[in-house]
Amino acid sequence: MKYIPTIGIECHVQLCTKTKLFSEVDNDARGKEPNSCVSPVDYALPGMLPRLNGEAVRLAVLAGRAMNCEINAYSRFDRKHYFYPDSPKGYQITQFYHPIIGAGYVELPSGTKVRIEHAHLEGDAGKLTHFDNYSLVDLNRVDTPLIEIVSMPDIHSAKDAHDYCKELWRLMRYAGVTYGDLYNGNMRFDVNTSVAPEGSEKLGTRTEVKNLNSFKSVERAVEYEIARQTKVLESGEKVIQQTLGWSDATGKTSPQRSKEVAADYRYMPEPDLPPIRLSNEFIEAESAKLPSMPADYRKKFAAVIAGDVLEVLLDYPELMKRLDKLDEEYIKTIANLFASVLLAEEKSAEYLNDLPTVAELTELAEMNKKKELSSTATKEVFLRLFDPQMKGRGAKTIAKELGLIQENDLGALEAIVDVVLAKPETKKAQEDFRNGEEKVIGFLVGQVMRESHGKANPSVVQEILRKKLA
Ligand code: MN
Repeated sequence: MKYIPTIGIECHVQLCTKTKLFSEVDNDARGKEPNSCVSPVDYALPGMLPRLNGEAVRLAVLAGRAMNCEINAYSRFDRKHYFYPDSPKGYQITQFYHPIIGAGYVELPSGTKVRIEHAHLEGDAGKLTHFDNYSLVDLNRVDTPLIEIVSMPDIHSAKDAHDYCKELWRLMRYAGVTYGDLYNGNMRFDVNTSVAPEGSEKLGTRTEVKNLNSFKSVERAVEYEIARQTKVLESGEKVIQQTLGWSDATGKTSPQRSKEVAADYRYMPEPDLPPIRLSNEFIEAESAKLPSMPADYRKKFAAVIAGDVLEVLLDYPELMKRLDKLDEEYIKTIANLFASVLLAEEKSAEYLNDLPTVAELTELAEMNKKKELSSTATKEVFLRLFDPQMKGRGAKTIAKELGLIQENDLGALEAIVDVVLAKPETKKAQEDFRNGEEKVIGFLVGQVMRESHGKANPSVVQEILRKKLA
């Protein structure tokens, strides 16, 4: 029997606001002392009252629109109760009944559409670090604004689960709502997986793997769960609904706490915060600020940039903006340069923090087009455009300084060819070529290149050689 997997994903995205969701302390705790970004509101001291951060609402609107979602003009907050040392209030402020973001969809690079059920605003919990017989509590992260994005169970493979998470990461960064730093937990994925016999109307019992923070872990965890659940069903047993953790080291999932049912949380409207009411004008004005999204670029550049190259480049929103500003005839050259540097040289994302300007890139592409630079020299100059010591000098100056400008002048090149042809050590090759040995032309071109100190344009040299040896 064949089993069909079904996957739904919940994703928490930390919003990059200056201050927290309900208080005015710093939201960016990177590199700060534990418990140094905590206000009385975050500590839940008696008498504290939360006040909603308007910027978080604005970012939620952008995030929603990036996922083609309806934005709800009316939304409000609820208390979700649970007791745990990472939450001094004893409840999380979230949006259970009236989320700010309604239904929408995310389109994967393959064209598969994953529907978004809804997305809501909520505050993050603190962070616990466990040791042998004690734990440390850091509340810096308490009430960092989050949006939780809930997908429909529209995903049916580990690869699509990976692609969905990656596309969400791209969308959120293009929309500018998060730093998108996965290593620091800016986006965390909870993955629900079930398998059911092919043709079955009912979905199988699902498990939830919590808190994955890389696309690769999502893919591996889903692969593992599909295989594990299929084996359980094949042996005639039942899959247990439970919450699981994932270990990258062992490549396995393992049970965590048992799944609470919604009623355990005793959801109730948050009495200390008024509902959010957004005007149509506000929603439209904010939506209009969304820049081009990956899907827009896929459409726009389909005829110019190879699909696999484009998918590599799409991870870098600022890079895409640069490409978009280039003259159409140069887009392909520059796109391929970026891709080759990213792939072959394995440069990190940091390398792309300080991109060459549109003018610098245009100058380089022009020189390449006019054959003033060979393809090797073009790449060399391109790399130097990132070099802090060469910054701002421009492609032409750098190419000149490095002596990379190709000799295209026919007269000058002919003179060099004559010098080479006059050398006794090339006589045999000339004779062989005249006798029909095609491949010795390479040797002769090489000799001319050497004579010109690498500056001759090899294709022009070959033309001249063929004429002279005819
Ligand atoms: Mn949540």
